[in-house]
Amino acid sequence: MQDILKELGESRIINAAGTLTRLGASPIDQEIAAAMAMAAAWSVDIAQLQGRASTMIARATGAEAGVVTAGAMAGLLVGSAACIAGLDPVKMARLPDTDGLRNEFIVARGHRNSYDHGVRAAGARLVEVGLPDRSTACGVRDTEAWEIAAAISERTAGVLWLARPNAQPALESVVQVAHAAGIPVLVDAAAELPPAGNLRRYIEAGADLVVFSGGKSLGGPSASGILCGRRPLIASALLQQLDLDYRYEEWDPPAALIDKRALPGVPRHGIGRSCKVGKEQIVGLLVALDRFLRESDAARNERFAQITSALEQALATLPGLSLRPTCDSHSGLRVLEVRLAGTPAAGRSAPNAASAPNAADTPLDACALAGRLRTARPAVHVDATAADQGRLVLVPTCLSLADVGRVRDAFAAAMSGTSGPSGAFAWI
Ligand SMILES: *Cc1c(COP(=O)(O)O)cnc(C)c1O
Repeated sequence: MQDILKELGESRIINAAGTLTRLGASPIDQEIAAAMAMAAAWSVDIAQLQGRASTMIARATGAEAGVVTAGAMAGLLVGSAACIAGLDPVKMARLPDTDGLRNEFIVARGHRNSYDHGVRAAGARLVEVGLPDRSTACGVRDTEAWEIAAAISERTAGVLWLARPNAQPALESVVQVAHAAGIPVLVDAAAELPPAGNLRRYIEAGADLVVFSGGKSLGGPSASGILCGRRPLIASALLQQLDLDYRYEEWDPPAALIDKRALPGVPRHGIGRSCKVGKEQIVGLLVALDRFLRESDAARNERFAQITSALEQALATLPGLSLRPTCDSHSGLRVLEVRLAGTPAAGRSAPNAASAPNAADTPLDACALAGRLRTARPAVHVDATAADQGRLVLVPTCLSLADVGRVRDAFAAAMSGTSGPSGAFAWI
C-alpha cells in the first residue's frame, strides 16, 4: 500500500512520550491490525459479537459480564447511564435529562479529573466529599469512607472511584459503605494496566463496574475500551450503546446478557449510541486483550527495558546530555530521564513558550530542546511534563528498536541547533 499518511499530507511521528491519545495512542501490532482488517471487510451482528466479547471479558476480569466501549471515557458514560436508568427503557430514553431520577455520583474530591466528564455526560451530578490534604501536603489524610457514607441519599445513583496506586479511601472501604446502602461503585481504572492482575483486582474488591482503556497498555485501538461488572448493569450499558432499530419480534439480543422478556419493548437509541463501537474496535480490543494476557508482566517489562537501554546507549554517544534510567512511579516501567548536562536540577522555574527551534540567542533548556525535537523530521515527541524542572522523559511503550537511531539523530540535530535529520522517513 502507498504511504497513506503522505497522501494525506501528514507524516508519522516518533512517539517517546507514551500511549497518549493525542499522539495516536498505542501503535497496533500487526496481529491486531490484521484481525481488524479482516473484521472490517465483513458484516456481523454487533450485539451478538458484544455477547462473545462479554464472555471473553468476563473470563479475563472475573466479572459477570463486559462490553467493548469506545474508550474508557465512553465506558464511564454508558456505565453511569446504566447506574441511573437500570433496565428501564423509559429512563434510558430520557438521559441526559435526569430530573427526578437518582442522578448523583459521590466522588472523593481528590478523585475529580478531566475524564469524569464522561459521568456528567450521562446526566449525573457529581457530589464531591472530603479533602485531598495528603496530596496537597496540607495534612496527612484524604477523603475517608465515612464521608462517602454520609453523603449517600435517595438521590445517589453511584460512587465514582479513581484507581491509582495508593488511592484513598481504599476501594474495599468504599464498596462496604456503598453496598450497605445498595449503591453501585464505578471504578475508573483506565490507565492501571499493567500489571495484568489489575484486570481482576477491582472486581475482586467488590466494584460493580470497572473501565479500562483499550488504547493504552492493552495495545488495542485508540477508540476502544472495556466496561466490565455486574450483568444487569452491563446489559443496561450495552442496551444504551447499541443501535436498536428493531421491531420487538425480530429482535434477538445475546441471551446470556439481555433477557428480552424482561423488557416491555425495545429501547430507543440510547445516550451511548453517540459513542458506538464498530466491529473493528470490538475485534481489535479482544485480540489485544488476548495478546496482553499471553505476555507476562515480566516479559513485557523486559521488552520495554530493552528499548530504554538501547535509547540510553544511543544517547550516551552525544555530548551534553545527562542520562538516568529510572522506574516510572506509576507503571513501574523503565524509562529514561534526560537532562542537559550542566543544567541545575531546578532548571527554569516556569513553562516558557519560547521554544523557537533556531533561536540561537536563547540558551538551550529542556523546554526548548523538547520543542526542537517536535519540529525535527521525523518529529520526536518526548514526555515534557517536567521540562520546566529541566527534565525530559523518554517512554518506550510506543517505540520499536528501529526508532532508537531516529531518536538519537533528532537529539543530535536539536543539540547542535540544526534543523534535523534529512526528513526522509522509511516505513519499517
Ligand atoms: C486515559 C484515561 C481515561 C480515558 O481513556 P480512553 O480510553 O482514552 O477514553 C479515563 N480515565 C483515566 C484516569 C485515564 O487515564
